[in-house]
Amino acid sequence: MFPLLVALSLAPSTPTSSNVFLLEGANVYTSAQARPQAASVVVRDGKIAFVGDPAAAREKAAGASVIDLKGSFLFPGWADAHGHLLGLGKSLETADLRGASDATEAAKRMTAITATLPEGAWAEGRGWDQNRWPGEKFPDARELDAAVPNRPAVARRVDGHAVWVNSAALRAAGIDASTPDPPGGRILRRRDASPSGVFVDNAMRLIERTMPAASAADFERQVLAATRACAKVGLTQVQDASAYAPDQVAALERLAQRGELPIRIYTTLSPEPSALSGFFARGARIGLGQDFLTVRAIKTYADGALGSRGAALLEDYSDEKGNRGLLVTPPERLDELAREARGHGWQLWIHAIGDRGNRIALDAFEKANRAVGKPPAGGDRPRIEHAQVIALSDIPRFAREKVIASVQPTHATSDMPWAELRVGPERIAGAYAWRKLKKAGARLTGGSDFPVESENPLLGFYAAVTRQDLSGRPPGGWRPEEKLTRGEALALFTSDAAYAAFEENRRGLIAPGFEADFTVFAEDPMVAEPRRLPSIPVVLTMVGGRVAYGRGLSGGVAP
Ligand SMILES: [Zn+2]
Repeated sequence: MFPLLVALSLAPSTPTSSNVFLLEGANVYTSAQARPQAASVVVRDGKIAFVGDPAAAREKAAGASVIDLKGSFLFPGWADAHGHLLGLGKSLETADLRGASDATEAAKRMTAITATLPEGAWAEGRGWDQNRWPGEKFPDARELDAAVPNRPAVARRVDGHAVWVNSAALRAAGIDASTPDPPGGRILRRRDASPSGVFVDNAMRLIERTMPAASAADFERQVLAATRACAKVGLTQVQDASAYAPDQVAALERLAQRGELPIRIYTTLSPEPSALSGFFARGARIGLGQDFLTVRAIKTYADGALGSRGAALLEDYSDEKGNRGLLVTPPERLDELAREARGHGWQLWIHAIGDRGNRIALDAFEKANRAVGKPPAGGDRPRIEHAQVIALSDIPRFAREKVIASVQPTHATSDMPWAELRVGPERIAGAYAWRKLKKAGARLTGGSDFPVESENPLLGFYAAVTRQDLSGRPPGGWRPEEKLTRGEALALFTSDAAYAAFEENRRGLIAPGFEADFTVFAEDPMVAEPRRLPSIPVVLTMVGGRVAYGRGLSGGVAP
């Protein structure tokens, strides 16, 4: 049993800018390559002042407060190199109705999420499916009224083709027995022709157009909730792939300047020309709130996703003749963006999943390199997000053009049941091909793409080293030749992520002068049984010398 962490009296919001304190009693991994050592860490002004011999550390931090980590495992702060904070924050406020056994249970789940909502905000849910319910009957507004009486409530069906609302929402939308069905849509009705609360297809617009647009306060609340969820799973930084609009970036700046962000955000900006011009004018790097917020990247899309056959392929999908997927942005625009970003010293992230999407993205970066000249040392570190299906002949181009492959290990294990059906036995050799990329000299970084996947980085770590699902299938791992070692997987979420954000001189290692960003686990993920990895408890998440999350393990969690 872990006793309570006595010294966690530093409140999450307590800035320690003038504080000196000592972390002791931990097994410390100073880098992804290092062996663990029984060491102490002295933190001064939010930075690491000393790491090493406990007696020497005590001397240097005489009189300082002490956090006794009692044999737990201290790492450089973990990062997620590709997540969506706003999406996660929204999903935390949206009731998950999948698997509900009847309308009453679904309605109850709607009640649960109203606790965190401001007054008047609509309660939202998604995932109900009346085909799983007794009698396969569509639900009624009255069932939702009982659960959410005082505010409008709207819940999407599992397929997104219908919504179920309560009476407050019907009133807000001004819909009654006299409202006609719109073309291409249907309002389900009771015997007396009054709307029963379910709107199908185009009729959903009647509800949606009434819902209030998200406000700046909504954005701030949702992003903050997401950062707290991330801190809880040990993340000290999220590199946010949301491609925010300027007003959203302004909201992030306010949060950073008020010191409210518990973890660091390295964010991406929308590729809209009107958004870019103002930011380019502000300089190549915008760091705010003691670098809790960094703005210096742009995010755009080459193609769609593999599951829905939207990823752009060089040849037909193996399971759909004649379909080669979709290009989301014209290649000429990608070329232009890559050149512009290079010119301004900004980083460009291009989402690319199919082998054609990846080739077009690589082409854009290669052309920019040629036009502007050889990338300078450090370069602008362009990134391909996902880098999922790559033609084997394109794999060496990542190293040659200095393009970072930003991968999500959990996507491999989520997609493995059907990925080969989509691309066939030959192209699968260049899919989720982390080992081949590494062998070819490419730099990788690791993320989750939350909320598509869980934000827990240990799931990514587990997927990277096992290539198995959570029940351990398939035995030996899916295409095990692409597995990473634990050291490599740790690097993905620490030093590689730091490099991908131009932060290798201040994050990703435990060394004097580096930020005091730490992730502390109750068990050692570098040696734990693979099946233990996903559930290893986080003891402490510290960012810039502040406690972003800390837990006493007295609550029945046996390490
Ligand atoms: Zn994403």
